[in-house]
Amino acid sequence: MSDCLFCAIASGDIPAAVVHRDERAVAFRDIDPKAPVHVLVIPVEHHANAADLAAADPALAGHLLAVAGAVAAAEGVSESGYRMVSNTGPQAGQSVPHVHVHVLGGRDLSWPPG
Ligand code: AMP
Repeated sequence: MSDCLFCAIASGDIPAAVVHRDERAVAFRDIDPKAPVHVLVIPVEHHANAADLAAADPALAGHLLAVAGAVAAAEGVSESGYRMVSNTGPQAGQSVPHVHVHVLGGRDLSWPPG
């Protein structure tokens, strides 16, 4: 999709600190981290949000979660714990309309978030 920041990161047109890449998904460090570990996992293919992705391609939705888990393991937070978040829509604070799973860890994560 033209004019999509995360499509441009997925294609490599915009640089990012990539920690995982395969044919269907890319994971990269959030530019404004909210925790010591803050990685975003996105599909290469454009989908607006998690529900749209799951409806269109459930296998790809599952792959994103698997990559998020692998990223957490590689970042060393599997045992201490981590959070996966996928914001949808303005009231949830979704600022990039290309589905992404935040993987947050490395500190105590209170709930609910502020
Ligand atoms: P959300 O607000 O849930 O849509 O999350 C979007 C996230 O993308 C935010 O946490 C931003 O800090 C992050 N972000 C925006 N631009 C970039 C970028 N160029 N590279 C890495 N992360 C980014």
